[in-house]
Amino acid sequence: MDSTKGSVSINAENIFPIIKKWLYSEKDIFIREIVSNASDAISKMKKLTAVGEASIIDGTDDWKIEVILDKDSGTITVHDNGIGMTEEEVKKYINQVAFSGAVDFLEKYEGKTDDAQIIGHFGLGFYSSFMVSKKVEIDTLSWSPGSKAVHWESESGMEFEMAESDLDERGTYITMHVADDSVEYLDSFKLRETLEKYFAFLPVNLYFIDTADEKSEDEKEDEVIDVDEDGKTEGKKDNSPKALNDTSPLWLKPAKDCTEEEYKEFYHKVFNDYNDPLFWIHLNVDYPFNLKGILYFPKLKTNYDTLEGTIKVYYNQVFVADNVKEILPEFLMLLKGVIDCPDLPLNVSRSFLQNDGYVNKISTHITKKVADKLNGLFKTEREQYCTYWDDINPFVKFGCLKDDKFYDKVKDSLIYKTTKSEYFTCDEYLEKYQKDAETKTISYSDNATLQAQYIKILEEIGIDPVILDGPIDSHFIQLAEYKNTGKFKFSRVDADVSDKIKDESSEEAKAEMTSLAESLSGIFRSVAESEKLKVSVEPIKTKMPAMIILSEQGRRMQELAKMYGMTDMAKMGFGAEETTLVLNYKSPIVKQLATLKDTDEEKLKVVCGQIYDLAMLAHKPLDTDALTRFIERSGDILAKFAE
Ligand code: ADP
Repeated sequence: MDSTKGSVSINAENIFPIIKKWLYSEKDIFIREIVSNASDAISKMKKLTAVGEASIIDGTDDWKIEVILDKDSGTITVHDNGIGMTEEEVKKYINQVAFSGAVDFLEKYEGKTDDAQIIGHFGLGFYSSFMVSKKVEIDTLSWSPGSKAVHWESESGMEFEMAESDLDERGTYITMHVADDSVEYLDSFKLRETLEKYFAFLPVNLYFIDTADEKSEDEKEDEVIDVDEDGKTEGKKDNSPKALNDTSPLWLKPAKDCTEEEYKEFYHKVFNDYNDPLFWIHLNVDYPFNLKGILYFPKLKTNYDTLEGTIKVYYNQVFVADNVKEILPEFLMLLKGVIDCPDLPLNVSRSFLQNDGYVNKISTHITKKVADKLNGLFKTEREQYCTYWDDINPFVKFGCLKDDKFYDKVKDSLIYKTTKSEYFTCDEYLEKYQKDAETKTISYSDNATLQAQYIKILEEIGIDPVILDGPIDSHFIQLAEYKNTGKFKFSRVDADVSDKIKDESSEEAKAEMTSLAESLSGIFRSVAESEKLKVSVEPIKTKMPAMIILSEQGRRMQELAKMYGMTDMAKMGFGAEETTLVLNYKSPIVKQLATLKDTDEEKLKVVCGQIYDLAMLAHKPLDTDALTRFIERSGDILAKFAE
């Protein structure tokens, strides 16, 4: 072969600056592209031999890819024993970079820097090597009988030289002379890490060879090695190289052949999570599209764990990205899992994916599988399902909030945990606790510690409130009410309990209570600094001298005001007209207030302030000023008491 020179026939001058800019943030892509090409070359060779088109003359069926780092000469070489290329093929596939439409496309999407994905799918994959190289060499020998080995090299990606190569075995070597601005890839650790990221599950054995290690091994071998009596060498390490990938990941194995241990082990390895997952779903679709994968429901470490899962997306066993939001429903990203979609239309920009029918189908399919799994567990393993609920409920609720269809599918498997750690569906709850109630309510607590007094009262009258204390629950309550309009409402334990907390009282006592309430309203309004506060006196089933009762509606309004930063409104008592301070007629101190009123105004103020704050404390956390005042006053009272 005569050596040739020429120009790569693309508008390289226009294209390269764009790709370069594009890849700037995701330079790693070059290694993905070059190794993927090597893997493709091997699959093609495998296919050719399988159909009898080619026979492996040299006896090599030890398919492998080697990535060789030579720091001293500043090169990274990717070697495969795949199909190789003839001179014609190099000319066709490398020199005439065929990518009709790609120029237009690149121009159109210029600036969308996160779309580095597309590089590999316009026949530009090989050229991404120039992003990190000042010079790239190809040495390749085709499988096709009689071919001559070809050497190709280029310093810019725009002009090349071709000549005969002295390569004498089938396959391809791509040698990249790493440019000064990319020397980080000459770091053994960094390179290995990048390979592991993309190729942990590549279908062909992948070896990483650092020539520096080999040199140090050679030095060791020169050392004297002890030989024992049997002639065996002692303590000699197994030096046979180990592939850094697992060529047959668990998701490819039929679910029926996978053991629980295998699922767990795979989870630990891929997600670096030492906890066991709760349960998992093995996805396996052949028609109408191809999709395989495993979704895991992780265990939350605490109730307040930020829910952050990872779904790793693969394309034919090559890692694409984590959490590709265009193909996955948002709520699924709270799970952990791997999915491999060999049909992914990655040859278009990712932002294009959203509108793709195929992508919608993936998303719908996965959502359905998840719902089916939850419903299946609920129906057949209810006890197990309940033990999972604490961990999975934020995920399920988030899914319901984000996706109406998901809600419709799982609505009958939504359960609520009571203060007694029993789990009920809302129908079961209403049946058990609200059978005869006219307007049905589900009592809930969003802070069982703070609201312990109210919970106790309700439990005493035979109603166990449910616990809804997660960060997502206030939103979920709104959704569940909306979806069950007319059926039931949620009511926090301190709302509308007036009827439930009252004890019996005589007519005579009632009159006394009314007049007491009237005479004390003023003083309590002044200590509460709220003109709108309602004050009543009732015999209540608690030892507390008073309780705050705030209608569900009023409280939600207050919370809303706070959420939207309307602190002034919240302070002014937005919704406060709904707040009632119920003084406990059964508490001796309350009865004494009437006497105090006539004898010692000062003391009355102190006692009323304290009663109000105690009631408030059981209702919601006091703000800084109120808490300071409460603590100071408590100190004064103690001092008086000790006198
Ligand atoms: P793509 O892989 O998207 O087609 P590339 O620029 O990466 O685009 O590669 C262009 C072509 O060059 C490939 O389709 C393949 O025919 C050939 N090629 C690249 N690398 C190799 C290799 N290691 N062995 C054999 N052929 C290769």
